[in-house]
Amino acid sequence: MKSNFSISGLFCNSLGHKYVVTHKITNQIKEYRCVRCGKEVASNLKGKLEVITDKQRKAHQVLQSFIKKKINRKTTLYS
Ligand SMILES: [Zn+2]
Repeated sequence: MKSNFSISGLFCNSLGHKYVVTHKITNQIKEYRCVRCGKEVASNLKGKLEVITDKQRKAHQVLQSFIKKKINRKTTLYS
């Protein structure tokens, strides 16, 4: 139902979003999703939350796989 979505949106507007970390890229850069309305944001290097764009999400995936490779040099993990 469409009305459910707008009600939770109103809830977020008055109380603020309730974000949970969905992806941790680095200590600074993390992706979050609001458990109430499903809005997705990411923290940048300055610690500011911004709405995730497809381009940004892709950049995060590249960065994350790059970091994983660097940490696990012996094991090749592709999930
Ligand atoms: Zn929300």
